[in-house]
Amino acid sequence: MAYTKPIPDPEQYTFKPYWDGCKAGKLMLPRCLVCGRMHFYPRVLCPHCHSDQLEWVEASGEGRIHTYAVQHRAFGGWAEETPFVTAYIDLIEGTRMLTVLHGVDPLKPEEIKIGAKVKIEFEEASDEVSIAYWRVVE
Ligand SMILES: [Zn+2]
Repeated sequence: MAYTKPIPDPEQYTFKPYWDGCKAGKLMLPRCLVCGRMHFYPRVLCPHCHSDQLEWVEASGEGRIHTYAVQHRAFGGWAEETPFVTAYIDLIEGTRMLTVLHGVDPLKPEEIKIGAKVKIEFEEASDEVSIAYWRVVE
């Protein structure tokens, strides 16, 4: 099935290591060399201590649902996917990611559990770009 949603530009804002990781099936996140904390979304400064001394490291791709919402209205390529579930994921590395959650029924939100284990997966959006999603594994 053709990918119809917006496709990010991996060259924009110098976050190419994140996108290269997604293409290779790895979650690459920036980690601060000063305070040691990881963050998402990628930024040029550490949001915790404002250092610009960052490195890219591979994260586990494991986490738990922090919270979620069922999206009944959306625009563009997302409109045809409604309803779908967005969620904040608490990574075991200590940062948080916003995602579209796979492996859940948006029409049965009572079955989605806060704290449920999730694992990252990647969907090819184009020859150059893959998008990270999270899937419930318990
Ligand atoms: Zn820092």
